[in-house]
Amino acid sequence: MTARETIALIAHDQKKDDMADFARRHRQALAGFDLVATGTTGGRIMEAAPSLKVTRMKSGPLGGDQQIGAMIAEGRVSMLIFFTDPLTPLPHDVDVKALTRLATVYDIPMALNRATAELLIAPDAA
Ligand code: PGA
Repeated sequence: MTARETIALIAHDQKKDDMADFARRHRQALAGFDLVATGTTGGRIMEAAPSLKVTRMKSGPLGGDQQIGAMIAEGRVSMLIFFTDPLTPLPHDVDVKALTRLATVYDIPMALNRATAELLIAPDAA
């Protein structure tokens, strides 16, 4: 028996509409994975694509990024899709940096913008 792979999904506030649209458009592909997300992002994904089951962690600024980072360190996340907002100062910038650092340390595929996420999820369509 092979365990299903897990994708972690996170979007900063200015990118949440984009993430909701991404999840809706790719709901069929995403349905083949276990999905984990930070709190608010997970809620938006499930609204946009009700067929998807998303395990929601805490909201990012309250520790959700760190929870997902810990999952990466434990080998429980195989891909990170993180729509970051490079134009807005964030209170939890250090957590964002720690999370992307761990994704690099553990060498998992990491998309920090939609164009890369499309390549990872729907390579034939991009
Ligand atoms: P959120 O967290 O999905 O709870 O808004 C994302 C973030 O800002 O890191």
